[in-house]
Amino acid sequence: MIAGNWKMNHGAADAADFFKKLKGEVSTTPKNVEVLVCAPFTSLAASVDAAKGIKTIHVGAQNMHFEASGAYTGEVSAEMLKETGCSHVLVGHSERRQYFAETDETVNLKTKKALTEGIVPVVCVGELLEERKADKHFDVVTTQVEAAFKDVSAKDAATIVIAYEPVWAIGTGEVATPEQAQEMHAHIRSVLGKLYDTGVADTIRILYGGSMKPSNAPELLGQKDVDGGLIGGASLKADSFNELIQAAEKASS
Ligand code: PEP
Repeated sequence: MIAGNWKMNHGAADAADFFKKLKGEVSTTPKNVEVLVCAPFTSLAASVDAAKGIKTIHVGAQNMHFEASGAYTGEVSAEMLKETGCSHVLVGHSERRQYFAETDETVNLKTKKALTEGIVPVVCVGELLEERKADKHFDVVTTQVEAAFKDVSAKDAATIVIAYEPVWAIGTGEVATPEQAQEMHAHIRSVLGKLYDTGVADTIRILYGGSMKPSNAPELLGQKDVDGGLIGGASLKADSFNELIQAAEKASS
């Protein structure tokens, strides 16, 4: 899976323009790669509309509330997301954890709510630079994964997508080495194997995120346990996003 995270970029008009360009770029529809674009709330409906005609493209949101409705000013529910036609939602992105007080507990509540509503959660985990320097990265990520999957059945767990995003690599230009990515992805899979079983662990897709771009994607995507990428900066332009789709298609063949 190649997933773009537009963050607070691309309003509805820009979103429509992006998909128009992407349709022009994608010469062959990817056979093995699922493509996801996570757009801002106000661009979701326009994105769903503009993405029609590219079979393998899904549109997702970047956040949601875990309640269905109520006095939560400024928030958007899973039910509302479904109405826009979007199918996925990012949960626990490090920017949400850092700036909007997202906790492991709310990540779990949102994950379960998305699953109940038939929206695929893309659960983001990853350590801070100081945690890696202190050699705590495996423990930090283990805690995040265990918390996110708390009280999630094996059947539901198998549908979740995980994005491993070392916080020190997001938007910094500093990318994890393919070995660092592979090591953490294998670790996450072993945590999932203990929580469920190896069948479920092998089914769950684990994406790498953090300064992925066309030049470093082939090596990262070539790692055994790297099942795709979550991409911020390089997902904003249709041409570089398409290069990432093509790199994933190549890596999967
Ligand atoms: C992200 O925001 O999820 C991300 C990986 O950003 P970037 O690719 O810009 O590092």
